[in-house]
Amino acid sequence: MREQNDWRLTNQERYLKGVTLVWQPYSPANPRNDHDHCEFCWAKFMAPNQADTLHEGYATQDHERWVCKQCFDDFRDLFGWKGTSAA
Ligand SMILES: [Zn+2]
Repeated sequence: MREQNDWRLTNQERYLKGVTLVWQPYSPANPRNDHDHCEFCWAKFMAPNQADTLHEGYATQDHERWVCKQCFDDFRDLFGWKGTSAA
């Protein structure tokens, strides 16, 4: 499932190529923002206790960009991500 023409791919390589993504509980970059979406499939991230949303995922170090586990697994080779677990 790492196809170049996957519907989820919309030029994210402009800002996500080769970045380091850290697996961690969801927390928004801006405290006034209560959710984010996966950069690829638009799965919704929210703080815990919200049904039908994701509560942890891979994020850039500034927390501006979030990627769900499925998309991380599908695109990590294509994007050359270095994924790590939160310490
Ligand atoms: Zn996703």
